[in-house]
Amino acid sequence: AQEFGIVEALKQLGVKDVNEGTSTGQENFSNGEVIESYSPVDGQLIGKVKSTTKEDYEKVMSAATAAFKDFRTMPAPLRGEIVRQFGEKLREKKEALGKLVSYEMGKSYQEGLGEVQEMIDICDFAVGLSRQLHGLTMHSERPGHRMYEQYHPLGVVGIISAFNFPVAVWAWNTALAWICGDVCVWKPSEKTPLCGVACQNIIAEVLKANDLPEGISCLINGDYKVGEMMTTDRRIPLVSATGSTRMGKIVAATVGERLGKSLLELGGNNAIIVTPDADVKMTVIGGVFGAVGTAGQRCTSTRRIIIHESIYDKVKNAIVDAYGQLRIGNPLDENNHVGPLIDKDAVANYNKALERVVAEGGKIIVEGGVLSGEGYESGCYVKPAIAEASNEFEIVQHETFAPVLYLLKYSGDVENALELQNGVAQGLSSAIMTNNLREAERFLSVAGSDCGIANVNIGTSGAEIGGAFGGEKDTGGGRESGSDAWKVYMRRQTNTINYTTELPLAQGIKFDL
Ligand code: NAD
Repeated sequence: AQEFGIVEALKQLGVKDVNEGTSTGQENFSNGEVIESYSPVDGQLIGKVKSTTKEDYEKVMSAATAAFKDFRTMPAPLRGEIVRQFGEKLREKKEALGKLVSYEMGKSYQEGLGEVQEMIDICDFAVGLSRQLHGLTMHSERPGHRMYEQYHPLGVVGIISAFNFPVAVWAWNTALAWICGDVCVWKPSEKTPLCGVACQNIIAEVLKANDLPEGISCLINGDYKVGEMMTTDRRIPLVSATGSTRMGKIVAATVGERLGKSLLELGGNNAIIVTPDADVKMTVIGGVFGAVGTAGQRCTSTRRIIIHESIYDKVKNAIVDAYGQLRIGNPLDENNHVGPLIDKDAVANYNKALERVVAEGGKIIVEGGVLSGEGYESGCYVKPAIAEASNEFEIVQHETFAPVLYLLKYSGDVENALELQNGVAQGLSSAIMTNNLREAERFLSVAGSDCGIANVNIGTSGAEIGGAFGGEKDTGGGRESGSDAWKVYMRRQTNTINYTTELPLAQGIKFDL
């Protein structure tokens, strides 16, 4: 930790040995159990966070609901100014926060920095958007009437996030929610609580410097039971939840029970289709990064590569060769390509998937295995593996959050590849590698990919903040980040104003007194 500057980073971010996991932005407190955060990089204890009790949660909610009353009346461009300052603070702390992300979650330092850059980018996007929360004007059917729509903030937005993007997902939500006039309560993953503390410290500085009320940004910590405090709470009109499909189904049902809104960003089972016209070099770069980057722990990680039989051997051999060059080790060391999995449970799931694919008739062509010895003391480092498989295998239908890649073969038309690609429960990211315009357009057409993200000649992994991010089917249907994703954080109101001395009714209805 010392060698890679982690101690200094923690100091800069105000992360202590023992942290209060509940915060209203000005006050930090917590009376719950202690969560210990161990680094998957070297197995060391990084710090402890006290989790949130029901009483702590009530204090948070009264601060948040009170703050909303003020914050909603602040002009949106002024709220944008706060988000601009937040972005500036993130620029100052980029290296420290990037390091903590890398050390607590296990992704490479470059990806940790990339994650913080995404936070900065969404802030910039939100600042511009704060002057563009447009509604439409419509022509009234009644004379002397004006009709238009406007967007108002919702209130308290609850954010539940996953371990694999421990800071960016929060910012995608908060940057937009804040310019919209909402206040936020965030429960980070119990696997990455220190990233949550660090982020809350950064925004708290900005809010204090601007003399804004506490409650605009709140932090709570703990496992699913703390998450449930929000999903069952009628004071929270919108719960934005990122994580597994299993979690999303429970959250959607609980929030739906009280007719609240949920924004769901759940698991993927992303495929790249490789047609006879594909550029093999590009396919290898996109496919291998997609499968092994972040040790296969991205919602957009490439799980399946669907290759035409005419170039199957060529593509397969090129990918297998590339796997031979992968360096696995400490993600803070920039020479390594693949870091650890988040914890030993994830390692057990990885092992199970490899056993399963063989039991179902698959053939391992790049052997997996858990690494041990010097540098691998945490027990979380695994070898990226490849299996030749069939789409209908139960394990292939399932998202294994680890670097296990399945190669599938198709013959004939691209239609057959699309059937395989769409033939899973999830619908997040998809890609086609082809220089054939007809195939590319077919893939993007109404009869093509059924995913929320469909790419041509780039892989499935990663996305830019300018587009709406999310997927269909078991991925949950939510959209975050760019385009008009902001609308989910607001309520729409239709207004009709009569500036005459008559009171005509709509649809020409007569009601004479
Ligand atoms: P997870 O579902 O185990 O946990 C996610 C969060 O949900 C955690 O904060 C957890 O405490 C909380 N939670 C769990 N059960 C809950 C409940 N019943 N009520 C309220 N909160 C609850 O997921 P994980 O292992 O942290 O993350 C990996 C998963 O996240 C993968 O499936 C991945 O694809 C998905 N993911 C999706 C996206 C996306 O944008 N679509 C982004 C990142 C991760």
